[in-house]
Amino acid sequence: MLEGMRRRSVRRTIAVPAMCLLAACGNGNASGEVDTDGATDAGLSVRAAFYPLQWIAEQVGGSVVSVQSLTPPGAEPHDLELGPQDVAAIGEADLVVFLAEFQPAVDEAVEQEAADTFFDAAEHTELDLTYTPIEEGAEETEEAGSTDPHFWLDPLRLAEVADALAARLGQLDSDNAGTFTANMETLRTALEELDTELKQGLAACESTDLVTSHNAFGYFAEAYGLTQVGITGVTPEEEPSTEDLAEVADFVEENDVRTIYYETLVSPAIADTVAAETGAQTALLDPLEGLTDESAGSDYLEVMRSNLDSIRAGQPCI
Ligand SMILES: [Zn+2]
Repeated sequence: MLEGMRRRSVRRTIAVPAMCLLAACGNGNASGEVDTDGATDAGLSVRAAFYPLQWIAEQVGGSVVSVQSLTPPGAEPHDLELGPQDVAAIGEADLVVFLAEFQPAVDEAVEQEAADTFFDAAEHTELDLTYTPIEEGAEETEEAGSTDPHFWLDPLRLAEVADALAARLGQLDSDNAGTFTANMETLRTALEELDTELKQGLAACESTDLVTSHNAFGYFAEAYGLTQVGITGVTPEEEPSTEDLAEVADFVEENDVRTIYYETLVSPAIADTVAAETGAQTALLDPLEGLTDESAGSDYLEVMRSNLDSIRAGQPCI
């Protein structure tokens, strides 16, 4: 069913305006119901800030909503910069789906251009985790105590946000409210199945310490009984200090951690450094901040299942 919606949306991509052939439009679908008289009803246009929000908007909107991502495929979303065209697009969209305090440029553009047409994911699930580095004296660092934005790595939190998005789309386009509700039921089933697989697959792991590149897996770890140890901070581009690296290396050795996880959108050099120092291996664990050709799957569900396989092999789990 989900696959069916994706195929349908790909086929309709031809209706995307020509300017969207330039890179920044993501792989969102264009909507457009062609009436018998040949007129095109464009349906709702949604701008989603980054991949997981784009994905839920596509799943819920199906073929009657046009979704485009503000973060280009393969770009790292934390430090997204917007061009004038992007800002204009935010102003023109029927709805801008974003996450407040995750991408400062998007926050600013929404405030200026979309004050009445935004959907803030942070209002629809509880972002109750804060960043806690493992090293002592961490309260001195800027990020200690800041909110962890990475809710989408917990499929049930993503479902909560998608539920609210389906309701909002139904308010904006009441003719299609039934379609959004039905699509949401399909999406919820898929996310709950994924959650069950994760719970079962990660129930018995030799090590529950998850050593990751950046602190993206807090909600994931909380949901599945793991403890995250991030090498860098909440944002991946932060350079860890020599002391940070030494702390993580000590932790890896003391706790017999076997695998250091790296990401697709961030250089693996830091994970490699810690692995070389400790004799641990490295493996891919994708925080789903964007899809690339190197992603281990073509959508959220596939990449999450690949993450499950990666952790099951890396910890390992029985
Ligand atoms: Zn992140």
